[in-house]
Amino acid sequence: MAHPKRRHSKARGRKRRTHWTITAPNVGECPHCHSPRLPHHVCPSCGYYKGRQLLEAKEVS
Ligand SMILES: [Zn+2]
Repeated sequence: MAHPKRRHSKARGRKRRTHWTITAPNVGECPHCHSPRLPHHVCPSCGYYKGRQLLEAKEVS
């Protein structure tokens, strides 16, 4: 196994971890049923993508 040759300071590791922040997913709107949907994904509620039905629509009330 690879092994570190030199010790890192605590600050060096912490500086690297400053970029570990998580961001909220950018949720868009389905153009067909206007429900929240991730971009470039088939709509989970109506099953449409690019104006075509690809999946069975989920029957929710
Ligand atoms: Zn939809």
